[in-house]
Amino acid sequence: MKRWPDKNYINGNWAGGSSGRMWTVTNPATGDALAEVSVADASDVNLAVSAARHAFDEGPWPRMDPLARGRLLFLLAQKIRDRLEDFAMTDTLNVGKPIRDTRGFDVPCAADLFESYAGLPDKISGKCFGTLPDNVTMQFREPMGVIAAIVPWNFPLTNAAIKLAPILACGNTVVLKPSEVSPLSALMLAEAAHEVGFPPGVLNVIHGTGAETGAPLVRHPGVDKITFTGRHQTGAQMLEAAKIGMKGVMLELGGKTPSVVFPDAPVENVVNGVITGIFYNLGQVCVAGSRLLVHESQHADLMERIVAKVRGLRQGDPTDPSMQLGCLATAQHLSTVHRYVEQARKEGARCVLTGKIPDGPQNCFYPPTLFDGVTPPMTVAREEVFGPVLSVLTYRTEEEAVRMANDCDFGLMANIWTTDGTRALRVARQLRAGRVTINGGGALRPNVPVFGYKMSGIGAELGYEETVHEYTSSKAVIYALGTEKSPWPE
Ligand code: NAD
Repeated sequence: MKRWPDKNYINGNWAGGSSGRMWTVTNPATGDALAEVSVADASDVNLAVSAARHAFDEGPWPRMDPLARGRLLFLLAQKIRDRLEDFAMTDTLNVGKPIRDTRGFDVPCAADLFESYAGLPDKISGKCFGTLPDNVTMQFREPMGVIAAIVPWNFPLTNAAIKLAPILACGNTVVLKPSEVSPLSALMLAEAAHEVGFPPGVLNVIHGTGAETGAPLVRHPGVDKITFTGRHQTGAQMLEAAKIGMKGVMLELGGKTPSVVFPDAPVENVVNGVITGIFYNLGQVCVAGSRLLVHESQHADLMERIVAKVRGLRQGDPTDPSMQLGCLATAQHLSTVHRYVEQARKEGARCVLTGKIPDGPQNCFYPPTLFDGVTPPMTVAREEVFGPVLSVLTYRTEEEAVRMANDCDFGLMANIWTTDGTRALRVARQLRAGRVTINGGGALRPNVPVFGYKMSGIGAELGYEETVHEYTSSKAVIYALGTEKSPWPE
C-alpha cells in the first residue's frame, strides 16, 4: 500500500506543523515505528479553526443545495469502499485489531455511516406554529457552525465517521483531532474527502496529543460546539473548555456493560454472545460486556462452557485473517489493563483463566482473562478496564440482578439473555442504560441514537432526529400579520 499522508490537512492543503516536530506512530503488534506525522501546536490549531470558520461564515458548504451536500457524502462513502483494503490494513497495523474485524466491521461501517447520512441534508426541516390567528411563527433548523471533534483510538476510522457524517450532513464545518495513537486512517479520510471535492476548510484534520493539540482546539473561541468521545476524565475537561465562549458540548464516554443471564436463556447463544461481547477488539470497546451476571443455578455450567470456548480463541498477528484476537493498542494501555488485573486479585476476585503476558517488543498481546467470585464493590466491577477482562458475579433473584446491574457509575449499554419476553421487557425498562439488547445484537446502526446514562455521556450520537437536534441551531421567526395588539397602552 502507498505511504500515508503525514501532514495536517488544513483548508484543503497538507501543512507541516509550525514547530516542525514529528510524532512517531507505532505498530503495537511489533513495537516497530509505522509512520511519522506532523504535530499541530496551538498556532496550527488556530489556522485550522480559522479555515473552518471562514468556510462556515463565507463558504458554500452551509448554503449549498442540500442534495449537493449529500452527494459529496455519498461519494466519500464510495471512496472508502473502493479503498477498503488500505483502510482496513491501516487500522490493523496502527492499533493491532484483527484484519477480519477491520475488513468486516470498521471500514464497511464507516462507509455505511457516510452513505446513510448522505440522505439526511434535504430532510432537515423546521416547523410552523399556528397558535395565534394573526401571527405566523416558524422554526428553522440551521447549520450550527464550527465543530471540534475529538476521538479515541479504539475504532480509529469508524469513530471519525460517527462524528463526521452527522456533522457534515447538517452543513457544519469541522476540525477533527484523531487520537495521537491512531491518526493514519483519519488522514486518509481527509485525502479521500479532498479527492471527491469537499470545499476547502469544510473538513480539517489535525494531529497531536490532548495537551498540545486537543486542549487549544476545544478552548478556541472560534469553535461553536465540542463533540468528544473518550474517557470520562477527559470528558470533564471538555466541560471546562466549553465554558469558554459557552460552547455546546456532546460527550460519548465510557461504559461497564452488564450482561444479565436468566436460567431459561439458550446456553450456546449466551456463551457466544458473552465471549464476543467482552473479547471483540480485546475488550477495547465502550460497550464491552465486562460484567457477567449469572443465576447461581447456572453458574457452574456456564463458567465451564465459557472457559472451554475462550481457550480455543486464536490470538496472534493481527494481519493474519485467521486470528480472532489481536493486541492492545499501546504498551501503556497494557500496563493499565494489567494493573486492573492485579488489583482484582488483591481484592479477592478468583482468576479462573488468563495466559502469559509476553515481555519485549510484542508485549501488547494481553490474554483473555476471567475473574469469578466478583462482587459489586470490587474495582474490577466498577471501573472501565477497557481490556479483555470478564468479571463474573452471581445473583439469586431477578430483583437482585437488576440492582447489581445498575450498581455502577456508567450506563452506556446492558444485555439481557432470556426467552421469557415479558421478563425481558420488564428488566429492560428497569436497567439504567442508553441501549439494552435482548438475546444479542446491539451492533452500531447509523439510524439508531447512542445515549449514555449516568457518567457515560451527555447528548446523543447518531439517529437522524437526534443529529438534527445536536448539530443544528434552532431559529424561531415570528411574523406578525398586523392585527396583534401591543400589550402597552397607546
Ligand atoms: P481519552 O479520553 O484518553 O482520549 C480521547 C481523545 O481525547 C484523544 O484524541 C486524546 O488525544 C484527546 N484528549 C485527551 N486530553 C485532552 C484534552 N485535555 N483536551 C482535548 N483533547 C484531549 O480516551 P482514549 O483512551 O483514547 O479512549 C478510550 C475511551 O473512549 C474509553 O473510555 C471508551 O469507553 C471511550 N469510548 C466511548 C465511546 C462511546 O460511544 N461512548 C466509543 C468509543 C470509545
